[in-house]
Amino acid sequence: MIITQKKPIDEVMAMVGDAKRIGIVGCSSCATACATGGQKEVAELAAYLESQGKTVVVTAVAEYCCMNLGVRGTLKPFQDKQLDCVIGMSCGDGVQVVANNINVPVYPSNNTMFLGEAKKLGLFEEACHLCGNCVLGTTGGICPISRCAKSLVNGPCGGAKNGKCEVNPENDCAWILIYNRLKDTNQLEKLSVRREDKGYADVSYPRTINIRGKK
Ligand code: SF4
Ligand code: SF4
Repeated sequence: MIITQKKPIDEVMAMVGDAKRIGIVGCSSCATACATGGQKEVAELAAYLESQGKTVVVTAVAEYCCMNLGVRGTLKPFQDKQLDCVIGMSCGDGVQVVANNINVPVYPSNNTMFLGEAKKLGLFEEACHLCGNCVLGTTGGICPISRCAKSLVNGPCGGAKNGKCEVNPENDCAWILIYNRLKDTNQLEKLSVRREDKGYADVSYPRTINIRGKK
């Protein structure tokens, strides 16, 4: 899922500026799991804005802020409210979808951090850099792009100490994890597979995918 963190409230207020009539849109998916844009966080931000003399005219929590059609429906009650701005409490994608569907300034309340997994409540770990050419099949299901500090695709740099990464000793060396996983699953021969330099041609932005074959 997309991991987000709340921006400092002063930063949000600086964006809001002199705006008086405000709408807030949260997201029931990733931002709810991150406690950055669910019902509770929307209500908390609304209460704060009211305490600062703003009028929160309308709030909603979209099912998925990244889904255009759903967001369009969620924003219907926002359209005729003479809003000065809308605050999007989702990931950066969701904020852009909201901005595409309402003709007032839209401001993000969150910073979008990474694509990762929820290890347990409140603990998130980065897991994928969306590289466009997944190599997990040869690396024991452990991503060398996002889990290795140098994104090495053909083995370790040699700097690990006691299993920890030389760049950040708080992290396990991804390539030691990969070795151990391949060994445990009888796939050690995959260590000798030479992976092409990523090159990153597949991640020239912005990317578009249409499973029906048309843009
Ligand atoms: S190799 Fe890593 S960064 Fe690339 S798609 Fe797979 S998990 Fe994501
Ligand atoms: S120590 Fe391991 S995880 Fe850290 S940069 Fe080197 S190979 Fe990558």
